[in-house]
Amino acid sequence: MARYIFITGGVVSSLGKGVTAASVGRLLIARGLRIRMIKVDPYLNVDPGTMSPFQHGEVYVTGDGAETDLDLGHYERFTGTPTTRRSNFTAGRVYWEVLHKERRGDYLGGTIQMIPHITDQIKTMIRAVDAEGVDVILCEIGGTVGDIEGLTFLEAIRQIGLEEGRERAMYLHLTYVPFIKAAGEIKTKPSQQSVARLREIGISPDALICRSEVAIPEDARRKLSLFCNVQPHAVLEERDVAHSIYEIPVVLHEQDLDGIILRHFGLDAPPADLSGWTAMIERIVRPERTVRIGVVGKYSELQDAYKSIYEALNHGGIAHRARVEIVKIAAEQLENGSDWPPEAGDLHGLLVPGGFGARGLEGKVAAIRRAREEGLPFFGICLGMQCAVIEFARNAAGLAGANSTETAPDTPHPVICLMEEQAEVVDLGGTMRLGNWPCALQPGSRAAAAYGAESVEERHRHRYEVNNAYRAQLEAAGLVCSGRSPDGHLVEIVEAAGHPWFVATQFHPEFRSQPLAPHPLFRDFIGAALARAGGGDGAGAAPAAP
Ligand code: GLN
Repeated sequence: MARYIFITGGVVSSLGKGVTAASVGRLLIARGLRIRMIKVDPYLNVDPGTMSPFQHGEVYVTGDGAETDLDLGHYERFTGTPTTRRSNFTAGRVYWEVLHKERRGDYLGGTIQMIPHITDQIKTMIRAVDAEGVDVILCEIGGTVGDIEGLTFLEAIRQIGLEEGRERAMYLHLTYVPFIKAAGEIKTKPSQQSVARLREIGISPDALICRSEVAIPEDARRKLSLFCNVQPHAVLEERDVAHSIYEIPVVLHEQDLDGIILRHFGLDAPPADLSGWTAMIERIVRPERTVRIGVVGKYSELQDAYKSIYEALNHGGIAHRARVEIVKIAAEQLENGSDWPPEAGDLHGLLVPGGFGARGLEGKVAAIRRAREEGLPFFGICLGMQCAVIEFARNAAGLAGANSTETAPDTPHPVICLMEEQAEVVDLGGTMRLGNWPCALQPGSRAAAAYGAESVEERHRHRYEVNNAYRAQLEAAGLVCSGRSPDGHLVEIVEAAGHPWFVATQFHPEFRSQPLAPHPLFRDFIGAALARAGGGDGAGAAPAAP
């Protein structure tokens, strides 16, 4: 039977709870343990699939096709352990299940209440995670302690601790210890109060992880220990890291967090082996070259909207020991014949990510035209691929006014359109082509060279597809459909013949990229960008150290 580690957050949001939880996961793997990770979100949306990137950042898609919280991306990247549709659920989903059961009469006329019905449902859904052969399940609770909507979740995890026994459940609390400049001091009071809220519910944290911008002096650590009822050695500091979030597992290991956890559970395990991980960090900390990659998006000002894309670009850099400088370009800026904005300077590669709706579309098309005509390495993803097909149709195949029916329903050349299956759909939530789909690769293509395989499986999240009625015309003009569904019906990858590196995918390769296993397309894209920058070793360079 698996043990549970619950991770809560205090004081403020955006502390990096997902990264910290994922780092704990990596640490336990380094100790030879088998883990699973889940995230529960106390908000009422049934899933994040319909939420705006402005509100929620990127929607992460699991292999089995669930639209989930972006923290699952951190889990997969840090731990290499796949997540599934059971790895993330919201209060909305919990209520939905309970209300369905109530309508069905499952409760036999009982009064339905927060405790025990909602809390029981939460416990059932936490325990539904596949625990087969797993030593530890890490469960991150979204939101901040003190949020009204989080109360039932905290009650549920308190009960799991009671039912499993204290030696099989552990509570980590991530808190914020601010430095007040004017006073020249760090302050422990917000953390004290946040832990007090937890203790009111009946949860006493076993370790406190303190996010802070400065070192936490010994006297403050003692104070946190005393007032928060946590052993002094279990008050840890998680300062902002210098180079990369991937340093955090090492920071926590240096303070013996893995030892604290193993002793709590009474588990024996070999010493931590972080050698592959630290070798990877070494490649980030001491890069040999730099490339500048422009990312032309609609949410360029947001940190989290293209999280997995930015991470996958960095992984591509790790594979080549190169630093990837990401230049965020707002697509709208490029509309109406405008030039690169000055900050874009001399780019070595261009990436157009996924998206929905018309805003910025013409800017993306303009940027792609430039990349295609100038031989600038280009990588298009999902909407980015659809824009590439639109651009190619208009400017290489002579199909004036070509467009996607998503943004231009009455275009004369609907090169991107809805397949019949999707045309009937009215609900927006969870109704796209989602999750893993197989893709057959054309021998000799850039894609086949990158993967070194004949067929692959990649994750999707879209409704629109390349229109087969235009395929012959586009191919005659030099568009290579190098990846297709095994039945040949759906176009999954396109390339531009004779271009140094112009590859666009209908799927989202970024979701599968990991720092220890950079995605082959991102690796080769960065390789091509390095070649453009000069002195590069081109596509297909050595993968990262394990
Ligand atoms: N809006 C496009 C579609 O639905 C692309 C989606 C995406 O980029 N994720 O097909």
